[in-house]
Amino acid sequence: MDQSAIERKALQILAAHNAVVTGDHFVYTAGDHGPDYVNKNAVTPHVRGTYHLSLLMAEHLRFLEPQIIIGAVAVGAVIADQIAWMYSAQNPDKPEPLALLVDKVPYLARDEHGQLILNEKGEPIILERLELKRGYNKLLAGQRVVVGEDIVNTGATVKEVVRLVREAGGIVVAVVAMVNRGETVAADFGDGVEFYPLVTVKMPRFPANVCPLCAEGRQINTTLGHGAAFVRAHGQPRNEF
Ligand SMILES: [Zn+2]
Repeated sequence: MDQSAIERKALQILAAHNAVVTGDHFVYTAGDHGPDYVNKNAVTPHVRGTYHLSLLMAEHLRFLEPQIIIGAVAVGAVIADQIAWMYSAQNPDKPEPLALLVDKVPYLARDEHGQLILNEKGEPIILERLELKRGYNKLLAGQRVVVGEDIVNTGATVKEVVRLVREAGGIVVAVVAMVNRGETVAADFGDGVEFYPLVTVKMPRFPANVCPLCAEGRQINTTLGHGAAFVRAHGQPRNEF
């Protein structure tokens, strides 16, 4: 299957689960606004949808001969597991790749002197970071590794997984993802890494203070994304013309 056929098929699956919403008004994680939204949570609970998307992702791995597939936290782990299994089923003559995950670990925020940073209630602030646990760092040295991800937004999560894999001595050969939503390109992951998103959706995004949708008074979607918190803080936009 060529890339355009893969993309068409993946879009059909995402659309069948109403996972791509267009022509609305959303607030994204980083605070930007825009008209489109990819709702991974609409598809990943459906095993058939996830199965078919993983099957398409595994298609890209045929010539990469991965020894390890790794994903970040819950959904990334499911995807890594599915892709590893699909690849094994498609390539029974090749050695079975291991499916690993990177955990999200809470830690206490500290200043440069090692003192705890407290919130306005005097409680320590808890942050989270990605970490290789479960002894998985020992499995990565010298291995050909593929990173699996659902949606690449800014690429920050995948870049951190790539960094952890390299720190453990693994050789990252590719990143596969369901959707590339941002401007992320293969070079962002370093030399020698292929990047295979099933679907690339170029979504316009605007800083909140210059959002044209706000300017025309379009109501913010408070069901998906971070719209509810934005509306609590700022109210719905009003058409001032
Ligand atoms: Zn807006």
